[in-house]
Amino acid sequence: MKAAKDAGADLAEIRVDLLDASQQARWAEVIRGGVLPVIVTNRPEWEGGKSKQPEEERLQVLIEASQLGAAYIDVELAAVDTFAKLCESKAPIAAKRILSHHDFEAAMSLDEVRTTYKRMVAAGADVCKIAMAASSATDNATVFAALKEASDRPLILLAMGELGQCSRILAPKYGAYLTFASVGKGRESAPGQVATETLVSLYRFDSISASTHVFGVIGNPVSHSMSPALHNAALQAAGIDAVYVPLKVDDDVPGFIKAMVPFDFYGFSVTIPGKVPALDAMDHVEETTAKIGAMNTVVRKPGDALHGFNTDWVAAISAIEDALRDAGKSLSDCHVLCIGAGGAARGLAYGSLARGAKRVTIANRTVEKAEALAADIGSGADAMSLQALTAPGAPTFDVIMNTTSVGMHPNVDHSPVPQAILRETKPLVFDAVYNPLETKLLCDAKEEGCICVSGLEMFVRQAAEQFRLWFPDQVPDVGLMRSVVLARLQQA
Ligand code: NAP
Repeated sequence: MKAAKDAGADLAEIRVDLLDASQQARWAEVIRGGVLPVIVTNRPEWEGGKSKQPEEERLQVLIEASQLGAAYIDVELAAVDTFAKLCESKAPIAAKRILSHHDFEAAMSLDEVRTTYKRMVAAGADVCKIAMAASSATDNATVFAALKEASDRPLILLAMGELGQCSRILAPKYGAYLTFASVGKGRESAPGQVATETLVSLYRFDSISASTHVFGVIGNPVSHSMSPALHNAALQAAGIDAVYVPLKVDDDVPGFIKAMVPFDFYGFSVTIPGKVPALDAMDHVEETTAKIGAMNTVVRKPGDALHGFNTDWVAAISAIEDALRDAGKSLSDCHVLCIGAGGAARGLAYGSLARGAKRVTIANRTVEKAEALAADIGSGADAMSLQALTAPGAPTFDVIMNTTSVGMHPNVDHSPVPQAILRETKPLVFDAVYNPLETKLLCDAKEEGCICVSGLEMFVRQAAEQFRLWFPDQVPDVGLMRSVVLARLQQA
């Protein structure tokens, strides 16, 4: 209880059904302790809980909790009649009654939520609680819409699982009575719960209100993303009333983007695998982004038009240009080697030529993909295999960019190219990988005396560019963004 309070909770839920035998004897003592007001819940197996007690015995626990001073008791909507009968011969229940309904199997439609809410109000709920499984990230729209229209009684409504996690974080934005968070990481009592400390410090839960604008990163997976830490820190530093959340989307990315716009979502970052599908939701795609055929940023403009941008390539190429300039060189004199032919390679190869590189050679494990990308780009681009890089008479390069995942944690001893090819011409070496910060490729390059540019620079700059696109009147605190990511990488 003290841990919950210290983490920032205003209220604690005691799940009597989840307590082990030694803890069962102590829940009454915890209520009396009064560290935090409590909700007492004794969830039966038939509603997704662990209590195997006979119904009357199980509900008797709630009556006892009320007598002990619990602020709320949670009664399942399906048990409300049995509970009412049980209370008939007892003193009035002082605790507020949360009437609850859980669907762990599937998402409910807006109409089903409305009907359930009405039944709860009619049954005398002080607070209504509906928790449903999220079958799709778009189910969050049902939660937000139902919360906004609920006016008869306070409503707690959430979509469970990682697909519905933003419904927990954004609860105050749409008027939910409260949200549930875990005492700590790994101590969740329902799928998708966020730790209380994270909710309070990372998402600034206490400052989220109806006026807060919403931003987020769409991806799958997305739980490892450092973008929420980076952008929330930048938003807070700039004093902007906005929050940035992780958005796991495992199906229809364009449909999700469009479904969120009416709920004050003003921008998205998009990561793998949404960078190409997201284009379909855009009303306008910036010119180079359209040529690249992949985007990582959605900007909602006045009138709700959705504009798509790719800030990945700008970030990497500007970092490379800055490093070349510091060395008295220019990209326009450079023959660039792009290792890899995936999404990042597309942006960086196009971007190098867009910024005036003399030539771009694409080398890839699957040489056919390198050839296809070079053909797509057309003039100024060619392709070769990775093996050909070390063959006698192989071309030399002024800039080498790694856009593959080779060298990424945990395979930190791997490099996409042999160190020897760096020796003679000492090219500038850029690695899109930023975990670890100093990849094997960058260590080799450093040893050979090359100029090195790390993937951290790309990550921070693509985020800073997103911030500028979302808030044209603001200047992002790039130093803060960099230090947040560095701190996270050091913790990892
Ligand atoms: P992608 O579309 O999946 O492309 C992956 C590329 O890596 C392909 O060319 C693939 O070759 C190659 N590859 C994978 N494993 C390999 C191996 N063992 N040996 C040789 N080549 C291998 O991925 P992406 O979106 O382009 O991302 C690539 C990397 O860039 C990732 O590490 C990502 O984290 C990083 N990135 C960093 C930033 C940043 O901000 N720093 C931004 C975006 C991406 P095949 O075609 O032969 O499979």
